[in-house]
Amino acid sequence: MFDVNKVRNDFPMIRNNKDLIYFDSGATSFKPDRVIKAIMDYYTLYNSNIHRGDYDISISVSKTYDDTRKTIARFINADDPRCIVFSSGSTASLNLVAYNFGRNFLKECDVILTSQVEHASNILPWFKAREEAKANIEYIPLNPDATFDLKKYEECFKDKNIKVVVLPYVSNVMGYIYPIKEITRIAHEHGALVSIDGAQGVPHVKIDVKDLDVDFLSFSSHKMLGPAGAGVLYGKYELLEKMEPMMYGGDSNARFYNDGTIILKNVPEKFESGTPCIEGVLGMNEAAKYLMELGMENVEEYGRYLTRYFIDRLKNLDNVEIYNPESEAGIVAFNLKGIFAQDAASYFNKCGVALRSGNHCAKLLQNVINVTETLRATFNVYNTTEEIDRFVDIIKDTTIEKCVDSIL
Ligand code: PLP
Repeated sequence: MFDVNKVRNDFPMIRNNKDLIYFDSGATSFKPDRVIKAIMDYYTLYNSNIHRGDYDISISVSKTYDDTRKTIARFINADDPRCIVFSSGSTASLNLVAYNFGRNFLKECDVILTSQVEHASNILPWFKAREEAKANIEYIPLNPDATFDLKKYEECFKDKNIKVVVLPYVSNVMGYIYPIKEITRIAHEHGALVSIDGAQGVPHVKIDVKDLDVDFLSFSSHKMLGPAGAGVLYGKYELLEKMEPMMYGGDSNARFYNDGTIILKNVPEKFESGTPCIEGVLGMNEAAKYLMELGMENVEEYGRYLTRYFIDRLKNLDNVEIYNPESEAGIVAFNLKGIFAQDAASYFNKCGVALRSGNHCAKLLQNVINVTETLRATFNVYNTTEEIDRFVDIIKDTTIEKCVDSIL
């Protein structure tokens, strides 16, 4: 296990905000010094475009950019760095997959099998794909607490033409780690592909795409200690080869002719038109290395430890309702009885605690758990049990009057 005080010292946001308790890393994480240094170095030492300059600084930045594919491949245990497509984040990656299913991989009446825990970024693109292909969407029946039942899932394949299974690795509200290896095995047995939203899983859980055998995995740099503006679509090479880009322009084409013919470059470059978020990719490179140095097994264990610690402390409070007592990956959804989530969040803000309230972009989840708004505390490697203790003391003393006063 790593030394959390040493880790905290790597994060300027922690050093500069001594009194802030930041429990909103699920929205975006803090960044360690080395990530910020990579961005600063780019802008101060070798600011230039990639793949376009025949001079040293451009050659050097192009190499670091391209080498980041190898870092990310190592991070998720992909064999082939060409399977790492850079994007602007999870939303862009998830859209690229759904777009291709809508246009190329689905036929009329095929079925997209998904769930009601999805973040908007992993369901709205599939609504569009359904429309484009005249396909159908079906929802896997989850347990009432949104945990996964493999038996009910397998039953969904009976007499249905399911072509793709779309799920998150970790629900951004419930924090469960879904059994993706089993889910993928069953999907493949029935001839369906699997696209996983890794936005909340990749930062917290050791991912091995070879072992999981998923066909697509999308994630964002900014939730895994890297900068915003960069992200990844991992895809199996033979599938990426069959896909078309959503955008056309510079750097992704080998040739084009005045009759309109475009000869695209190979995977992954064909998906990366235009100047990308270079500093984002360079920062993501350092973030992935930092996480690998901490050890993703340790990151996962520490996340589980903080989650359990918080839930166990909350369970002793009469004024709290917890919605995901079995959460594993640093996400706790709860409410204070009789207090609107946003009012409580505003009061906690006054007490120096930053956390999120609302539906967390998972607007269909209320159909499963029967709650429309929750408070959501999310942890990362720099959070501590002392912060949790301080927060629990605040929760203990929270009343509806204090919450209402804080918003007046
Ligand atoms: N999927 C999940 C589960 C998320 O939690 C988020 C962001 O909160 C996204 C997708 C979208 O990520 P981004 O905004 O980085 O594209």
